[in-house]
Amino acid sequence: MTQDYSDIREEVAKLCADFPGDYWRAKDKHRDYPGEFVDALTKAGYLAVLIPEKYGGSGLPISAAAAILEEIQLQGCNGGACHAQMYIMGTLLRHGSDEQKAEYLPKIASGELRLQAFGVTEPGSGTDTLSLKTRAKKDGGHYVVSGQKIWTSRAEHSDLMLLLARTTPREECEKRTDGLSVFLVDMREALEGGLTIKPIDTMMNHSTTEIFFDDMRVPAANLIGEEGKGFRYILSGMNAERLLIAAECIGDAKWFLDKATVYAREREVFGRPIGQNQGIQFPLAKAYADMRAAELMVRDGLAKYEAGGNAGAEANMAKMLAADASWAAGEACVQTHGGFGFAAEYDIERKYRETRLYQVAPISTNLILSYISEHILGLPRSY
Ligand SMILES: Cc1cc2nc3c(=O)[nH]c(=O)nc-3n(C[C@H](O)[C@H](O)[C@H](O)COP(=O)(O)OP(=O)(O)OC[C@H]3O[C@@H](n4cnc5c(N)ncnc54)[C@H](O)[C@@H]3O)c2cc1C
Repeated sequence: MTQDYSDIREEVAKLCADFPGDYWRAKDKHRDYPGEFVDALTKAGYLAVLIPEKYGGSGLPISAAAAILEEIQLQGCNGGACHAQMYIMGTLLRHGSDEQKAEYLPKIASGELRLQAFGVTEPGSGTDTLSLKTRAKKDGGHYVVSGQKIWTSRAEHSDLMLLLARTTPREECEKRTDGLSVFLVDMREALEGGLTIKPIDTMMNHSTTEIFFDDMRVPAANLIGEEGKGFRYILSGMNAERLLIAAECIGDAKWFLDKATVYAREREVFGRPIGQNQGIQFPLAKAYADMRAAELMVRDGLAKYEAGGNAGAEANMAKMLAADASWAAGEACVQTHGGFGFAAEYDIERKYRETRLYQVAPISTNLILSYISEHILGLPRSY
């Protein structure tokens, strides 16, 4: 079992109380980045909980990060604005050199540097990461990067980006997973030479972008780990990412259920509360049971991860079940509210749009089902 961190949850809830619905509605309306909220989380040290104490973080286990993100969502806020900082840092921590860690981690922990951007997905390759085309060619003490990424979220609000690029052409690699490398890109420098960021307008406020590399020079010292092993390094961080996003979905599901049950008890139609109708009760009861089952899977995954085991199966299943649970709870919440579910001032339609993302990103449900089929059930690979 993992710890519940009720003390941390309480403090996070207090912080979130300063960022009520109208704050998020205004940000959503104008597609503004919630910088004040991210600053408050940074100052309170929440984004650095996974950074070891010797680098200025709190050195807590992943279940503490999950508790923080779940609580943020449960309070109606949106951790999507900054959640990546918690798990991207893991690649640097696990695979970076001592010099890189000493240089960057304390600054990330203090908030002096923001590591919010994660450049993996490309328009041409999509989920098939091994087909990515962005090239990084060695040129003396630098790598020269050319290509394009898409859906690079928070790029405009980040100082550093973790970038996955091809350093050896695919046909020259012994293994299909070789030939990709990870770089820590200083975006402030890169914006002066070869990096262009173009925001993408999306259905929710997510500060996501396309980025273009036109012979962008990255010092060779910013290569993380060994050249050609980057895909493995990124994969090793994905379980943490999936578990943390699953925890966010649990928070969303709880928010929707709380909102819906309060309303169902209060709203009277035909002279009695709508919550007295089984047609209203049952979708909420089902969504609650689904949320609890998903929550158990999240906790199972967190416990396995913390024990040092391979939590691949649990992290994938937790992400899928929790994303399904938050979506079902959102659907039941909208239905319970009738027409009011569509009114922006109730925040339901905003949260509904926000939680929809997790059926697709960071990995879509189909790909999780393929993983379960192949790696757990031993069925033939379908792609
Ligand atoms: C708002 C937002 C933010 C994001 N942020 C980031 C970020 O910060 N960094 C980053 O690198 N990426 C980010 N992503 C990208 C995200 O991880 C991808 O969108 C996701 O992995 C799916 O890839 P794709 O969009 O290319 O879909 P595709 O790979 O084109 O897939 C399209 C559909 O086909 C299905 N499909 C594809 N192949 C198969 C198969 N073999 N079997 C069954 N079904 C299949 C998929 O499940 C999906 O439903 C973000 C995306 C969004 C929308």
